Amino acid sequence: MSLHWPKSRIIPVRQRPIRGVIFSQERANFRSNPGNSSGFNFAYATTAHETAHQWWAGRVAAPAGPGDALLTESLAKYTEAVVTEKRFGKMYLRPYHVKDSQLYFAYRSAASEKELPLWQTVNQPFVYYQKGGLALFRLKEALGEAHMTRALHELVERYGYPARKPGPPTVVDALKRGANAAQIRLIDELFKKVIVFDNDIKILSSKPLSNNRQLLVLEINVRKTDETSGKPVPVTPDDDIDIAVFDREIVPDTAPPDPVYLQRHHFSKRRSVVTMAVPRTAMTVVLDPLSTMPDINYHDNSATLK
Ligand SMILES: [Zn+2]
Repeated sequence: MSLHWPKSRIIPVRQRPIRGVIFSQERANFRSNPGNSSGFNFAYATTAHETAHQWWAGRVAAPAGPGDALLTESLAKYTEAVVTEKRFGKMYLRPYHVKDSQLYFAYRSAASEKELPLWQTVNQPFVYYQKGGLALFRLKEALGEAHMTRALHELVERYGYPARKPGPPTVVDALKRGANAAQIRLIDELFKKVIVFDNDIKILSSKPLSNNRQLLVLEINVRKTDETSGKPVPVTPDDDIDIAVFDREIVPDTAPPDPVYLQRHHFSKRRSVVTMAVPRTAMTVVLDPLSTMPDINYHDNSATLK
């Protein structure tokens, strides 16, 4: 007996709906308590991550080799963060990113081998999970979500199964298309180098202004190090970093409220002094509030008015 499919049911391979298994741990997801609003909703984030693998592994995958996990785990971490941001808000991601940054530094200090750049990552999960997710989210903040989405959409359209598998350079090239010179330099740093920071922020003075505002004078130190060769080489910063100001103290492990001031500043020196007028209610200033930069000590990235 032969099986006859009506012509209308034959769907071209590229348009077929995705069918696959979505992994979900019983203990982590089904038995977690997402109603506990004080903590981060890991059940939501990990479910977004596992669903993202329908694309990043299911549809698009690199040939096995150095950097292949950039196309699976790093892109799934990125999708996880963006979906979570859309559901809960941008500042909700701060404690989640702080945790990933701490895990990255803890695992890399315990690693016996030199850290490889993201696009050549092999057997270093702290690179393709934690650093990969942070790097891609930082890139989204620099390029804009539309740019990222266009590049990733192009990747699925041109290299999705059963097309030829793309390597890590294809991802980097897709992200570079339409980027300006500074953004291209950031892309190269994020994917092809191993860069770490040890930044801090201090409040030098505050002075009341009229209209319920106050003038803050801040000192910001950006210590940037290139560790691509395995030996730390100090680098002069040339980086955009957000500064946020909150009207209360920031509690560790808890998402801060919306800031009363949020602005991106460019830093081209190791030490900078920044003056800003902010609402009189300002209490805490935070450098890189979303904690997307790999900074070895995040504790000194915030300062509270006494
Ligand atoms: Zn994964």
